[in-house]
Amino acid sequence: CATAQPLSGGHGAMSFGTLVVLRDVTREQLARQAGNDFVAHVSHELKSPLNVIGMYAEMLADADEESLRVESLNVIQDEIERMNALVGNLLNVSKLDAGSMSPERNRVRLDDMLRDAYDQAIPRAEGKGLHVALDLPRDLDAVTIDKDLFRIALNNLLTNAIKYNRPGGSVTLAARNDGHEIVISVRDTGIGIAAPDRDRIFEKFYRVSESGAPVARGGHGLGLYLTAQIVELHHGRIAVDSEPGVGSTFSIHLKSAPVPAGAAVL
Ligand code: ADP
Repeated sequence: CATAQPLSGGHGAMSFGTLVVLRDVTREQLARQAGNDFVAHVSHELKSPLNVIGMYAEMLADADEESLRVESLNVIQDEIERMNALVGNLLNVSKLDAGSMSPERNRVRLDDMLRDAYDQAIPRAEGKGLHVALDLPRDLDAVTIDKDLFRIALNNLLTNAIKYNRPGGSVTLAARNDGHEIVISVRDTGIGIAAPDRDRIFEKFYRVSESGAPVARGGHGLGLYLTAQIVELHHGRIAVDSEPGVGSTFSIHLKSAPVPAGAAVL
């Protein structure tokens, strides 16, 4: 970072002024560089599915066999789904980064939301031969959250728990009251995350480069970034506990919102 030393070794207001100017220029350059990197990265991420779609569309046009046509269509649909997910995530990221995503918070009992997220995860998990479980206490306290944003966060964690799992593995969605907090956790018996990566997985576009897996498993390294931002917007905390080859547990800690007698809870 270029902020440490004034250039001339001078004193007083002059050197202070120089330092301030240098700082601004550096910040501008960094912002411009980050913007360029972002555009380059997104262009690349969009270009590869487009290439695949182009290739399979050509095959589709020439295909005589029914099986080849079906395969081409399936690939095209998968790639369109991936691009759709990327664009949806990018829209959310840009809103978050611009500070224009203002949560509409309501006091909510989480039970129903967690049950919905669980129900939606079942077919996706079972389709991959995974077992899914839901573990809720009877008296889960209420929390004050934006339901739509929170759904995105939960869905991202469940999607990862399914995606980075192993055949025959399991995914458990749980919640518990813990003092003045509610802790929601998503536990999987998947591939796990090594310590150095654990600190970085919440960064924008960060993906663990494990042999061949990232491309095969799809994804763009935005899900956990978004999830962490959403949790932060709710003044909560997200943590990960993981052991490579054994599995991972992501937990979201939120302040519980005691319900005064007679108050509305959604
Ligand atoms: P992606 O779209 O790549 O899944 P995320 O931001 O959701 O992006 O996750 C970032 C990276 O963290 C992933 O690429 C993966 O390497 C790792 N990761 C996330 N969740 C898990 C998990 N449950 N088990 C193992 N690795 C995970």
